[in-house]
Formats: sequence, structure tokens, C-alpha cells
Amino acid sequence: MHEISLVKNIFGSLDSVYPEKERKRIKKIHMKVGLLSNVEPILMQNAFEAVVATERKEYMDCELCIEVLPILVHCDECNKESEVVNYKFVCSCNKPTNKVTQGNELLISGVEFLE
Ligand SMILES: [Zn+2]
Repeated sequence: MHEISLVKNIFGSLDSVYPEKERKRIKKIHMKVGLLSNVEPILMQNAFEAVVATERKEYMDCELCIEVLPILVHCDECNKESEVVNYKFVCSCNKPTNKVTQGNELLISGVEFLE
């Protein structure tokens, strides 16, 4: 299950940015996950809870918030961006395009601390 290693990577990046004292005050971790990133938010949540329960107890009261980003493609013909629905990579003008401008994201977009 690759979500487990993704979650460990997230904690790893937080380790390198925030000292332990501050990490204990993190109450929310916000993530942006593109539909093309092959990450299932529900599996990510499960992995998060599993890792917190076993080796990252300092994050026990922390919540993972995942924002799923739709896939956007750019059309050179009409110079517009459109959302990909059902993995059909076509512009609203019906021209096929595979110029993905959004959808591959897998990143921490923000961290909230306790007051
Ligand atoms: Zn177009």
C-alpha cells in the first residue's frame, strides 16, 4: 500500500520544516491531491490513522484534510482551460488535448497550529 509511504513522507517533510515543539501543536494538515496522482483520499486517511496510531503518536489530535483537484487541460486551438470529465481529454470545443495543467498535484498546501 503506497499510501503508507506517502504518509511517512509527509511526516518526514514536516520533521524537516518544524522543530518537535511546534509539530506537537499542529492540528490540521492540508493536502492537495490531483485526480491523476493515483492517490485515493480514503486510503490516504486510513494510512494516516494507521501511521499516527503506531509510530507518530504526537499527531494523535491532528486532522488530515485532503482537497481533490480536478484534471484541467489546456487547448491550443481556443486557448482555454477545461475540466476533464471521465478521463476524456477533450476541450469544450471538442478538440482532443492532453496538455494537462492541473491534476498531478500531491503536496502539502498548508498546516494549521493550535492557538
Ligand atoms: Zn478548445
